[in-house]
Amino acid sequence: MDAYLRNALRGRVLFGVDTIAALPDELARLAGQRALIISTPQQREQAEQVQELLGDYAAAIFSGTAMHTPVEVTAKAMRIVEEKQIDCLVAIGGGSTTGLSKAIAYRTNLPQIVIATTSAGSEMTPILGQTEGGVKTTLKDQKVLPEVVIYDVRLTLTLPSAMSGTSGINAIAHAVEALYAENKNPSTSSMAEEGIARLARALPTIAGDPLNMAARTDALSGAALCGQCLASVGMALHHKLCHTLGGSFDLPHAETHTAVLPHAAAYNAVADPIAMQQVAHALGAESAPLGLFQLGCAVDAKMALRDLGLSEFDLDRAADLAVQNPYWNPRPIEREAIRKLLQRAWAGNPPQ
Ligand code: NAD
Repeated sequence: MDAYLRNALRGRVLFGVDTIAALPDELARLAGQRALIISTPQQREQAEQVQELLGDYAAAIFSGTAMHTPVEVTAKAMRIVEEKQIDCLVAIGGGSTTGLSKAIAYRTNLPQIVIATTSAGSEMTPILGQTEGGVKTTLKDQKVLPEVVIYDVRLTLTLPSAMSGTSGINAIAHAVEALYAENKNPSTSSMAEEGIARLARALPTIAGDPLNMAARTDALSGAALCGQCLASVGMALHHKLCHTLGGSFDLPHAETHTAVLPHAAAYNAVADPIAMQQVAHALGAESAPLGLFQLGCAVDAKMALRDLGLSEFDLDRAADLAVQNPYWNPRPIEREAIRKLLQRAWAGNPPQ
């Protein structure tokens, strides 16, 4: 048997339907009396429902969350934290909203309750990405790991169909890379396989029937498993490519993961055929890269980076950036092979 080191995550997770009703009790457990509710402008209405639920314990709403956690937005939210003497953070939304909550927790050490409404997985990780002067940097600190995560399936019913598909595949990407991670272990591999299987069967159903509760339940529980994989083991080439494309070319997060994943899996297939068999089995496909590509097509995702706003002219620079400071990867990172990978992903061709 292979030896391994596993860092277990602290934190409390509530999963189910209408679990949001437990929020007042969870706030009380953390001794919170003056909560700041955080959301995007688009989810202001859900933030107001949270406010109603918390009554006098809701001190303020900040619904100005923006993508990539710009430090200027954090500074605005910090002013409210100080003025209103906030003692607990309650975030409702996807990775962007969780990002702002983590950024405040990083500066204040305030406890956080995150109500996760996408499949991004940030709520499970001690990782914070922030943008300053157009440059996104990432840090890892246990201070930013939320104390409580609430998954309420009903809150995901409003996630638009297109975003449900790409956000779900974003979660699958965490699991695929966990299966070939340098520090993989039996518990993350089991979570990864189960997470992929749940999402793979749920996402095509959601694309055609967004209000299907059984499929939404599978998708959110699968995403929670994949989020734990992201938090527990190192990510590799796929995440490096997506961080490069998102950070330097401003491509959208979940959509980019969806278009790149089949090609990153194809790149690594020869280096870890066992991981690829596990992914293929979980997808119910013969080949992992092709199965991932077909899943993207089945949810009507854009599978070409050119359709996400990347110019062909940028492919050389993207390849140069992607091979700088590479993350550990099962197959050595070769610039020419990465350039070819990007060309295929740009054109939306099936993986090779
Ligand atoms: P997002 O949070 O930007 O959400 C996209 C849009 O969907 C927003 O307008 C949001 O309000 C809306 N939305 C979310 N849930 C909804 C729902 N249930 N109903 C209706 N609308 C809803 O997108 P995301 O993909 O969740 O997060 C992406 C960000 O998260 C990126 O910045 C990424 O870097 C970050 N992220 C960080 C980590 C980490 O560990 N630090 C992990 C994953 C992602």
